[in-house]
Amino acid sequence: MTISRACKKELSLLHETDKVRSFLVAFAGLFLLASPEQPSGVLVAWLALALAASLSVASRWLINWERLEERGATGLGACCVLLGDLAWLMLLIAGTGGFTSPFTILMLIVILFAGVFFNSMPLALPFTTATVIAWFTACAAANGLNEKTGWILVGEVVSAVAVGWLGQALAGVLDRERQTNEQVVGQLTEGVLLLDAAGSVVLANERMGEILNLPSGELIGRLAQDTSDHPHLSKLLADVHTSLDSTGPLVRLVELDGEQPRDLRVSTVACPRGAQVPLGWVVVAEDITELRAASRMREEGLAVVSHELRSPLSTLRAVTQVLGTLGEDMNQDQRTQALDALNRETRRLSRLVSTLLDCSHLERGVYTLEFAYLDPEALVRRVAEVLQLRAEGRDLEINCMIMSDLPVVWGDPLRLEMVLCNLGENALKYTPDGGSVTLMAVGHADTVCLSVSDTGPGIPAEERQAVFDKFCRGARHHHGDGGPEGLGLGLFMARRLVELHGGEIRLTSEIGLGSIFEVILPAAATGFGEEPLDSDQRLVA
Ligand code: ADP
Repeated sequence: MTISRACKKELSLLHETDKVRSFLVAFAGLFLLASPEQPSGVLVAWLALALAASLSVASRWLINWERLEERGATGLGACCVLLGDLAWLMLLIAGTGGFTSPFTILMLIVILFAGVFFNSMPLALPFTTATVIAWFTACAAANGLNEKTGWILVGEVVSAVAVGWLGQALAGVLDRERQTNEQVVGQLTEGVLLLDAAGSVVLANERMGEILNLPSGELIGRLAQDTSDHPHLSKLLADVHTSLDSTGPLVRLVELDGEQPRDLRVSTVACPRGAQVPLGWVVVAEDITELRAASRMREEGLAVVSHELRSPLSTLRAVTQVLGTLGEDMNQDQRTQALDALNRETRRLSRLVSTLLDCSHLERGVYTLEFAYLDPEALVRRVAEVLQLRAEGRDLEINCMIMSDLPVVWGDPLRLEMVLCNLGENALKYTPDGGSVTLMAVGHADTVCLSVSDTGPGIPAEERQAVFDKFCRGARHHHGDGGPEGLGLGLFMARRLVELHGGEIRLTSEIGLGSIFEVILPAAATGFGEEPLDSDQRLVA
């Protein structure tokens, strides 16, 4: 059973009252012991102090607040404690000479200042001062002023005002410090939570609110042990109690699922006060989603590249072994076959390496484009011829549909041909025999749309966005399942290249019917990339 948030608030108030009471008992005890003239009701006063002390012991150690909470009786318990406080105060006042005795007046000042001090309520300070002055005035009015009491009262009023304003100034300093701390914590790029000794959140910056998808204000007052209604917060605070046994911060990777999954590095540190009693906790959450995605992509890239390199390398090794062992004994046919294989695999290797190099150049922004005015019709016809050759021996229909009067495009003919060839080769690669691949060129007012459509298997909706990412291959084309080879870089590079021409690639696909990749390029007349004055070369950054 854990104590609820509302009950926790009541208990922390009682805790503060405990502190004030202990302070008063010590003060009044010392006063009674040191006073040369013992008041007539001194026994009653001591009785009052004994009652106060036992009330502190009861509220701290004897009353089982958890059980009261279970029975819904915490409010009643708190009321009893406060009534007890009223009772011992009345007894004390009666035992020390009534409401207007100097002791009671001093007690009043002590009560108010102790309360203000422990509760750190800056607004209560001027209020305290005003109350004390009003009390003195009332006492003086009741007893009549003589010279002696007059000076004592003036001295007390002056010190009350001085202490009041000193307290006010101190509270102002503390408040400014708190605000500065809050601003500093608010600027951090990490999410930060501060918890007090009871495990209740006392500070949460906005970043933490974003990470947990909760306004940071709603986090205040939440208890580390009562987060069952918010699974993300409970994951984040899971280390709060175990961190007590740890000498340094406890660091853990936390994965938050949901609409916007996040990977976090959470470090929890208990600020020690005693062996098992912390001053509080600091929980810092760093969002490492992008870092982890990048590292996953690197690992995936390495796996894809090594897989793609393995196959030509093993063919090359096998062929060189055959050449080494058979050598002179090979007939002409065998020699031609071996040389063909060597030729094919080295070409494949060099294609792989140049794709990787191109990709790295594109990513680093060191890629030379040679811009020129180009005729989209000629471009599409060249690509159709290449595809026709590639599809030789397969039962695939290659169609080419070109609208007349296409606007001219200002771009790099070789790179744009590479983009269309890549889309076309994908269409050939993924479309089974009996299907068709169609190249189209359509002109609009200020754009030209070059498209490649196929009657292949289509791309599932959940993959349509990701296929343009680096090293991304469709779920059905992962390595190791004997599917078509590929690095998963073709569409990534195609999109990047088209973007460098001021255009975009769109994908429409339907499972079982096929896919359409459209390359939309601005027509030269729209002014994208004015022709350079001194050179037709351009280094893209
Ligand atoms: P690769 O073809 O080398 O795997 P790409 O970047 O060219 O890399 O394509 C990424 C993924 O997109 C492919 O693995 C495949 O799953 C999917 N894809 C691309 N084009 C087509 C297409 N025409 N039909 C079906 N799937 C396709």
